[in-house]
Amino acid sequence: MQNIPLVNLKSQYLKIKNEMDQAIFDVIDQTAFINGQAVQDFENQFAKLYKANYCVPVANGTDAIYIVLKKLGIKDGDEVITTANSWISSSETITQVGAKPVFVDINPDFYTIDENKIEAAISKNTKAIIPVHIQGQSCEMGSIMALAKKYNLHIIEDCAQAHFTEYYEQHVGLFGDASTFSFFPGKNLGAYGDAGGILTNNERLALNCKMFARHGALKKHEHEIEGINSRLDTIQAAILNVKLPYILEWTSKRIENASLYNKYLADVKEIVCPKVRPNTKHSFHLYVIRTKKREKLALYLKEKGIETAVHYPVALPNMKAYQYLNYKPTDFPIATAYQELMLSLPMCPELNEEQIVYIANCIKQFFAIES
Ligand SMILES: *Cc1c(COP(=O)(O)O)cnc(C)c1O
Repeated sequence: MQNIPLVNLKSQYLKIKNEMDQAIFDVIDQTAFINGQAVQDFENQFAKLYKANYCVPVANGTDAIYIVLKKLGIKDGDEVITTANSWISSSETITQVGAKPVFVDINPDFYTIDENKIEAAISKNTKAIIPVHIQGQSCEMGSIMALAKKYNLHIIEDCAQAHFTEYYEQHVGLFGDASTFSFFPGKNLGAYGDAGGILTNNERLALNCKMFARHGALKKHEHEIEGINSRLDTIQAAILNVKLPYILEWTSKRIENASLYNKYLADVKEIVCPKVRPNTKHSFHLYVIRTKKREKLALYLKEKGIETAVHYPVALPNMKAYQYLNYKPTDFPIATAYQELMLSLPMCPELNEEQIVYIANCIKQFFAIES
């Protein structure tokens, strides 16, 4: 029997162990734990890879969204539109600045916010949209930017799952006012703890975000405003710097692995494999299939040594945390139906063809027994 984790962080570490150990040791040796050189290096290199004017390194991907919303002036009484299927950071940050999250159902093929249902959710209080490039799939940015222009709305792209995803050959993350990234260990570019970042081409917004994340001071003891403590840790920055030179190769490997899954699962009628939005590059943070027999399949795969997960078992508006908004599950027919059907199969650059064949064969065996 094989043992295939959802994400193989250990195997990735072993491939870069020498340089990684050295980079971590160097930070300790220099005792530059806060705002060390590695943080500045990451800021420069990440921005450069994206051809973005500014990167603001922060403590995690959730803070990144909160900080951007705050510095765009989103506040009490405002509404911000986001998707029904995401991690709670996409919406809890809206509440953190005092605004109200307004959820929109997802596109049945691509899992991202349904661009055709956004306009109906816009009110006179709407100030921004947070499109989430979920699973690594690009949102329909053309339609979303057109709405932003028509209604004068801010756009904050949540790129936590979409490092180097492309929409018409442009990286997602530079379409809106700013974009936010998570470098949580399991993300496509992951630190060895919490880490995050903001990208923007807007100089004033970049400086305001940076100042806010550092207690309201760009220079030590010169507090122009009150802020928060959301610095990127130097050790985490050093870890990210080691990984940056590999990230494009790792992204290609994910895409390759997704094609292999598609190939080996093509004739399994009981499941729906992920589709890629035309004219985009999906970075496959997750490889999500849909099946009516999800629970039984997950259990069967577990017995075969294959780890799976559900992203996510409850759509955001259906959560207890949002009961106060008085939504009904039927307001989000696709997201509500899919919360019972989605299953994430192992996906990472370290996954190989032999393992994918094994996983595909186990899935076929399961449906042969079931039918
Ligand atoms: C992971 C994630 C975040 C939050 O990132 P953290 O670094 O864990 O705070 C935000 N949005 C989405 C869609 C995510 O997947």
